[in-house]
Amino acid sequence: MSEYKDSILVLRTYKLAESDRILSCLAKQHGKIRVVAKGARKPKSKFGGRVEPFTELNASLWKGRGELDTLRQVDVISLNGSLHQDLDKMMKAATVVEMVDKVSFDGQELPELFTLATRALRSLARTDSPNFLAVFALRLLVLEGLAPQLDGCRVCGDPNLVSIEARHGYGLCITHAVSPTISPRIVELMRTVLAGRTASVLNLGTKEDSSEFEKVVMEYLEHVLSLKLFSLHANDL
Ligand SMILES: [Zn+2]
Repeated sequence: MSEYKDSILVLRTYKLAESDRILSCLAKQHGKIRVVAKGARKPKSKFGGRVEPFTELNASLWKGRGELDTLRQVDVISLNGSLHQDLDKMMKAATVVEMVDKVSFDGQELPELFTLATRALRSLARTDSPNFLAVFALRLLVLEGLAPQLDGCRVCGDPNLVSIEARHGYGLCITHAVSPTISPRIVELMRTVLAGRTASVLNLGTKEDSSEFEKVVMEYLEHVLSLKLFSLHANDL
């Protein structure tokens, strides 16, 4: 077995045997990996409470022969502990790691995705914004090359959009949309994030706008990625 080092973000964990834990992680240089943390569930484990979802670690690992590597040692970069103490933040963090999990595949190098996700979780741990999820989802769509085109109506170029056609990723004006589905304020928030000005949007928003913003963006993301996010709909059950 050969040893390697990488920064990892723990996405999910599973119990294995008596006292071990399997971690599904996004590694900065190695992309998505699954690793065994031996003895992680023992009270005196050297991994302590550090191999939990949302934690960011510098790790030494043994490369396994199969698809499981073995965690040898970890140093904490960011525990993001507050994400486990606040239900709202925990649900948002769970949605972030679920999105990251769904867009990443074994064998891909994904340093930009790693940076986007770890920065977002650290920021969520420090502060909370009602626009957090929508902003993260839009930035993820940009990274994936799937962001909607919102410069103007696809048919006539009118910048006053009232609807976004998710199937093709463009906006439509009042004349060309089947029916208005999105407020101008939300279009403006989306444009601001797509232009890279995320900080101002994270600091903005009324409760009504934020909830519409999140709904529009998350529906769009689920449509273009053809998925349903379990963590996002857990409250609907
Ligand atoms: Zn039009």
